[in-house]
Amino acid sequence: SQIMSRGLPKQKPIEGVKQVIVVASGKGGVGKSTTAVNLALALAANELSKAVGLLDVDVYGPSIPKMMNLKGNPELSQSNLMRPLLNYGIACMSMGFLVEETAPLVWRGLMVMSAIEKLLRQVDWGQLDYLVVDMPPGTGDVQLSVSQNIPISGAVIVSTPQDIALMDAHRGAEMFRKVHVPVLGLVQNMSVFQCPKCKHKTHIFGADGARRLARTLDLDILGDIPLHLNIREASDTGQPIVFSQPESDESSL
Ligand code: ADP
Repeated sequence: SQIMSRGLPKQKPIEGVKQVIVVASGKGGVGKSTTAVNLALALAANELSKAVGLLDVDVYGPSIPKMMNLKGNPELSQSNLMRPLLNYGIACMSMGFLVEETAPLVWRGLMVMSAIEKLLRQVDWGQLDYLVVDMPPGTGDVQLSVSQNIPISGAVIVSTPQDIALMDAHRGAEMFRKVHVPVLGLVQNMSVFQCPKCKHKTHIFGADGARRLARTLDLDILGDIPLHLNIREASDTGQPIVFSQPESDESSL
C-alpha cells in the first residue's frame, strides 16, 4: 500500500497509443476476453472507425489467439520490437503468440513479470486510438503491475450476476480505485438464457446482481449480455459475434 500511496513513479505511456482501456474481472470464465475482443471490434467498426489494438496480458490463459483466429510468431521490426498480428482490422499481441499453445505456463514471479514487460514495452503498435487490454482474472501482481506501469484511461469490469463473481468484481473495482484508474463501469454477462424453443427465460446465474453491485459502487452498467449459444460458438470459431453478426440484438441473436 506504500507503493500505491506514493503515486505511480514508473508510469510511462506506450508509444503511439492514445488511450488504454483495460478489461478486467474478479473471476475467470465470466466473459472478460469475449468482452475485450468485441469491444475492440466495436471501436474499430465503421461508425467509430478507430485504430484499435488488443493486448492479451492474461499470461496464464491467453485466449485472444483463438478468439481472433490468429497464430504464429510475431516478426521483429528494425528496432527489434514485435509486430502485432492482424485480423479483422485489429492489431493483436498475446503471450499465446510467444509460447507453444500446449506449453505449461508454470512461470512465477520474475518470469511472468518479464513477459508482461515484453508485452507492454516491446511491441510496435504504430498509431492507435485505443489499446484494449485483456487482463488476467483477479487482483494479483500482474494487474497491479500493468496499472502502475502504463497510464490507463479506464477499466471495464465484467461479471456474471452470481454472488461469488460479484464479490471478486467488487475487489477488482477497489483495486483500480486504489491505483487511481477510473472504472468506466460494469458489464453484466450471462444474465439470462432464453430457450430457443419455448422462449422461456431463465436467470441461470441470478437476475441482476451486477446492477446491485453497480449501485453499491456508484458505477454504470455498460452492457447486459445474455447467455447465448451464438456467442460461445463465435468465440470458439474465432469469428467474434460483433464481427459475424454486427446488427444482432438480444431477440435476433
Ligand atoms: P474469461 O475471459 O472471463 O475467462 P471468456 O471470455 O474466455 O471468459 O469466456 C469463457 C467462455 O464462455 C468462453 O468459451 C466464451 O465463449 C463463453 N462465453 C462468454 N460469454 C458468453 C455468453 N454471453 N454466452 C455464451 N457463451 C459465453
